Order: sequence, then structure tokens, then C-alpha cells
Amino acid sequence: MEVGLPIVIAGAGECGTSVAAELVRGGYAGPIHLVGEEAGHPYERPPLSKAHLEPGGKAAPVPIDGQGLLQTSGVSHYPGLKAEAVDRDRAELILSNGLRLAYGRLVLATGASPRRLPMAEGLAGVHYLRSLADAAALRVTLARGGDVAVIGAGFIGLEVAAAARAHGCAVTVIEASDRILARGADPDISVAVASLHRAQGVTLLVSTGISALRNEGAHVVLTLSDGRETRADAVIVGIGAVPNTALAAAAGLAIDNGIAVDEALSTSDPQIFAAGDCCSFPLAVYGNRRVRLESWRNARDQAAQAAAILTCASPAPPLVPWFWSDQYDHTLQVAGLVDEGKTHVCRDLGKGAFINFHLSAEGVLVAACGFGPGQAVARDIRLAEMLIARRATPEPDALASAGVKLKTLVT
Ligand SMILES: Cc1cc2nc3c(=O)[nH]c(=O)nc-3n(C[C@H](O)[C@H](O)[C@H](O)COP(=O)(O)OP(=O)(O)OC[C@H]3O[C@@H](n4cnc5c(N)ncnc54)[C@H](O)[C@@H]3O)c2cc1C
Repeated sequence: MEVGLPIVIAGAGECGTSVAAELVRGGYAGPIHLVGEEAGHPYERPPLSKAHLEPGGKAAPVPIDGQGLLQTSGVSHYPGLKAEAVDRDRAELILSNGLRLAYGRLVLATGASPRRLPMAEGLAGVHYLRSLADAAALRVTLARGGDVAVIGAGFIGLEVAAAARAHGCAVTVIEASDRILARGADPDISVAVASLHRAQGVTLLVSTGISALRNEGAHVVLTLSDGRETRADAVIVGIGAVPNTALAAAAGLAIDNGIAVDEALSTSDPQIFAAGDCCSFPLAVYGNRRVRLESWRNARDQAAQAAAILTCASPAPPLVPWFWSDQYDHTLQVAGLVDEGKTHVCRDLGKGAFINFHLSAEGVLVAACGFGPGQAVARDIRLAEMLIARRATPEPDALASAGVKLKTLVT
């Protein structure tokens, strides 16, 4: 790219802010514009369902590390302004206040929004969790105690359930599929996480849908798919997220479970890139299978990749999906894509911690799922990531044996 052309970034979340920060760190000489519809400084989302919700936990937003950089680097930050449209003929991004920002390259980092539950629309006492404002409202609600129903046993729903228990709420988690964490983790992890929640006093209902919701006085009454009714003081809906593609779709860019980009994050318009939760991309480590990842690490990695591409720097190493979730005093980590596996072996790390290593039919290590207290699984998951990136074919017995240091398999 011609040096010095303006780079405009739509979306000032984890990815967009990190693109700006990486460009600054890389010494990009041209103007950088960062447009975000949320007011204030860009902030980290993972603490919103963790420390932010805990009794006595930190309520102040944790700034994304670009904050200091944004203030001192000359990046033009436009908080509280939505990117309304892309004028591709004139290469301009049009903001909600009418301002037109000319771009040499445009990066779409518009993230995702919680999937809405139509039957909950307009009801009082129903929460979603994506933004700082959502977390602030939920924090107040949980602090009141009472009965809390969580719809959806994904990562966010379960983290909220753990926080609600810490506030002494009576918590029921209602999940339509036959196990919790069905989307991102393997069945053994689901069992272990479920027993942790049950031990903490959470009522978990699986294979249970919601037929109806209504307000009754200050309560929400939930009619379950088996006909039972349960009432709650607050309901948290955590049924996944949908990519924010409206801006890209209106601009005529290709959409395929997110803004479709190629391996270099380029959309169907070579002047426009997309990264983070909003985009789907071919994942090299799995033979270019198209995926969309909703994870902090992916937002950071793709931000670094986008900045490298925009500044013609050397490309980043191959990306391996990685996700973590903290619940009570336990951490769950998943590296790779579990559904690429055909078999798995388990490594018992002691003290209730374990890692399942998932192997393809050809014996390639494709994923590792670990769960345990504190950071018990962190180091081995990091080593597993390296093996996955190399498409290594380690001996299953060696993976399963806690006596064999994973490091020896990496070297
Ligand atoms: C509560 C919560 C907890 C999480 N915990 C974890 C965790 O433990 N581990 C993990 O790996 N991941 C976690 N994640 C996921 C992680 O935070 C996301 O994957 C990451 O934030 C994605 O970054 P992003 O920049 O793509 O999207 P976002 O961070 O969502 O940023 C997108 C930004 O773009 C803005 N925007 C959208 N459209 C426009 C527009 N037209 N104009 C201007 N601005 C626009 C949005 O308002 C938003 O600020 C969590 C997410 C949430 C919500």
C-alpha cells in the first residue's frame, strides 16, 4: 500500500483498537481514524462477565492497551459515532454525524451482538451481556439477590451463573441442547463443568427449551418446553452472538456467516478488510475451512495480522483458535477446533485438572480441551497449541501419559 494513505477503522472494540495500536507500534506514517459507536475509551469485554460482576469486583472498565497509545499517538478516535455507510465509489466512510472520512484502506471490526430471544422482547427483568452498560445493569441486579434464570449454557451464561451464585442468588440454567457448552467444548469438559456448577448449587436443566416468557408483577415467568413454569427476579439470555454485518452488507460486500474475507483478511473489495468477531475466514491449519471465531485472542491476532498486511510487514504465524473461560476458581481452555477430531485421549493432571487431546483420523492433533482449578491447564494447552499449529502427529500414549512432558513432544 502507498505509504501515508489514511486507514479508517470501523469499530473500536478489541480488534479495531488493537489494529490502531499495532499500526502505531509499527510506525505507520499516515493518518489513522478509529470510529466506535460506544462512548468513552475502548475497554476489554472478558472482565464484564467475570470480575465486573463479582461481589466487590472491579466495576471500572479495563482499557484495551491501546488507550494510552490512542491518547498520545495521534490516532483520531471518534467515540459515540456510528459508521452508517461505506461510499465505495468515493472510498469514504460516512459517520452518524454526517462526517465523511476518506480512506486508503478501510478495516471493518464491528464485532458481534447478542442473539436476541424474540419472545423476551419488551419484557422487564431480561438482560443480555455484551457492553459495559449491560454489565453495569446486571451487576446491580445480581447484587439484589433473588432468583436468577440463565437461558443458554454457553460460556457467557455459565460465567454469569457463577457470578450470580457468588451474590447468593438462586440460579437455574436452562439449556436447549442435551449438554452444556455443546458448541465449544467436548462432552467430558461439559460433564466436569456441569458437576462444578451443581456442586456450587446451580440447577442445570438440559434438553429444555423455553416455550413462553411473561412478566407477572416484578417477576419473569418462564414456561419450559416440558410445560413446567418457573419464576425469576431476573433472566439473563446467553444464546450466542450474531456478527455485525449490516454495514458491510449494505456496501455490497460478500457475507458468509460474517463478513467474508480471504486468508489476508481482504473482503470482496480489495480496499476493505475485516477482522475479529464480525468476519469469517479460511483457517489454514484446518485446510482453509471457513470459520468465524468469537474470542479475545482471535481479535488480537487478526488485528496484528491486519496491521502487518496494511504496513507490508512480515505476516503473523498461523493462527490456532484459543479460548478461555473462568468459572468460580476454575479455568477452561480450548485450543483448536474440537469438531475436527475423531478420537481423543485424556491426560490427568491431578487435583481435578485434565486435558483431552483430540486427534484426526490421520492422527494429527487438532484440538486440546482442558479444565481445572486456577491455571492448572494453561502451560500444557500452550504447548498443545504449538503442536496443533505444526499439524503434529504425537503418539496418543505420550499425550495421555502425565509422565511424558509435553515439551519433549514439541521439541
Ligand atoms: C461478556 C463477554 C465476555 C467474554 N469473555 C471472553 C473470554 O473469557 N475469553 C475469550 O476468549 N473471549 C471472551 N469474549 C469474547 C471477546 O471479548 C470478543 O471475541 C472480542 O471482544 C471481539 O473483538 P471485536 O473487536 O471483534 O468485537 P467487539 O469487541 O465487540 O468490538 C466491536 C465494536 O464495534 C462497534 N461497532 C459495531 N458496529 C459499528 C458501527 N457501524 N460503527 C461504529 N462502531 C460499531 C461495537 O459497538 C463494538 O464496540 C467475551 C465477550 C463478552 C461480550
